[in-house]
Amino acid sequence: MSSMDPLFGRALIVLIGLSSSACEFGTPVQPVHMPSPPTAGTDAREVKGRYGKVTEKERDMRSLSDEEWRRRLTPEQYHILREKGTERPFTGEYYNNHEKGVYVCAGCGAKLFASDAKYDSGSGWPSFYKPADTENVRTEVDRSHHMVRTEVLCSKCNGHLGHVFEDGPADKTGLRYCINSASLKFIPKDKADE
Ligand code: FE
Repeated sequence: MSSMDPLFGRALIVLIGLSSSACEFGTPVQPVHMPSPPTAGTDAREVKGRYGKVTEKERDMRSLSDEEWRRRLTPEQYHILREKGTERPFTGEYYNNHEKGVYVCAGCGAKLFASDAKYDSGSGWPSFYKPADTENVRTEVDRSHHMVRTEVLCSKCNGHLGHVFEDGPADKTGLRYCINSASLKFIPKDKADE
């Protein structure tokens, strides 16, 4: 039995890729930051201090039940944050947002990215060259869809945010954090309390 024709193999890879969204393309990178999970008390104080009230029940966002997440999030937010979905390019609320401010997690309010690190990658998704707070963002190897990519997650609630690739601005970090708008909530600079 002869081995697979290299050209056929390459075409097969392209076809598999086309069945996924463009945010799933790019050069995968190894996890860049995997801090140990913070304590529940630290989570609650941090979220409350920056972006509003947190009840006792919500102290540890990582322990919320599936039912609670469905109640808290819109169907689109739930699909992306809790089911690792990807929004269609050029459809999200923030890919073309150029206002100054911070982007917090739509699931738990943790500060994730700042507008200063946002740039237009042309991908159709909000793109950042670095997180605002590395303690709030962690990465994991993602082997889904026949690819090896680096998934980006919120450290506070384990929500899926997007992926990070090594084709970001060379004069900055060289990284592209490709993030779903639905995972984020934008806080304009004059409303951010820091
Ligand atoms: Fe979160």
